[in-house]
Amino acid sequence: AKESGRNSYHLYSEILHHELNQRMELMKRLRNAVEHDKLRVYYQPKVDMQSRRIIGAEALVRWQESDGQIIGPDQFIPIAEDTGLIIPISEFVLKTACKQLAAWHTLGFTELTMAVNLSGKQLQSPGLIEHIMEVVNESGIPPNKLELELTEQVFIENIQSHTNFMHAVRDRGIALAIDDFGIGYSSLSYLKHFPVTALKIDRSFVQDLPNDKDDATLTQTIINLAKSLEIDLVAEGVETEAQVDFLLDRDCSVGQGYLFSRPIPAHEFTQLLDDYQGQ
Ligand code: C2E
Ligand code: CA
Ligand code: CA
Ligand code: CA
Repeated sequence: AKESGRNSYHLYSEILHHELNQRMELMKRLRNAVEHDKLRVYYQPKVDMQSRRIIGAEALVRWQESDGQIIGPDQFIPIAEDTGLIIPISEFVLKTACKQLAAWHTLGFTELTMAVNLSGKQLQSPGLIEHIMEVVNESGIPPNKLELELTEQVFIENIQSHTNFMHAVRDRGIALAIDDFGIGYSSLSYLKHFPVTALKIDRSFVQDLPNDKDDATLTQTIINLAKSLEIDLVAEGVETEAQVDFLLDRDCSVGQGYLFSRPIPAHEFTQLLDDYQGQ
């Protein structure tokens, strides 16, 4: 037993060592990617499901390797948060997205909005709101066409600096959405305390609609909640017409999901805009 114990300890430390090495390697590659402009911003449309018109876009970051391979944010945002690389990455995404929105406004799609994701880690960086306003003003977009998406975690932590940040955002006319709504701890009181303008119903509730009874009930509840608080609503992860029917029947009119489009590069998004809302 002693022997096998030593062996498994050995094995464990080898695995740990291997994982550490992999993390270090990924960190190095990510830093290099940031420095050498290997990040891209993709855009996914937010759609008015009744008219099927595109009303906005969400900016989603990608890492494109020299060989063309695309790495998704789930694989590098966590490590970016741990290493501080989230700051330059987010700056890049915000700048790119605001400039892109300005370009679409110039093309005549003047009502289009742009949503950008913020991580909780960023909210601790001082001067964030000033930085955001600098980017907004430089791009020339009206602040009310920008929306910041924060996950529920940030609201639950209920830190004074978060609250201050959110009020500063609203004071400047920028919209504020709770992302992945419903999957965190269901302390709903934060809806009362934070100046939220929109809820995004998490994809996990939408994916089994309309057949899953529990998900149907929960979705209905979130819709009722948003309505009574007069908060905008977006359904995430819409993949089927049956889901659209369910949501429209319940007066949830804005959706985002593969049914309408995957996240795509800007030039493809421009094509979608031309195809679907060209005069
Ligand atoms: P999220 O903000 O919840 O973004 C929605 C994710 O759902 C995107 O994954 C999108 O591609 C995916 N999605 C959209 N429609 C569908 C659908 O119909 N079916 C399915 N199965 N998936 C759908 P993505 O782009 O891989 O992003 C993952 C997460 O990474 C995002 O989740 C967000 O939390 C984070 N993220 C992305 N870009 C940024 C960024 O610039 N900054 C920060 N802080 N986080 C980001
Ligand atoms: Ca989001
Ligand atoms: Ca989400
Ligand atoms: Ca998510």
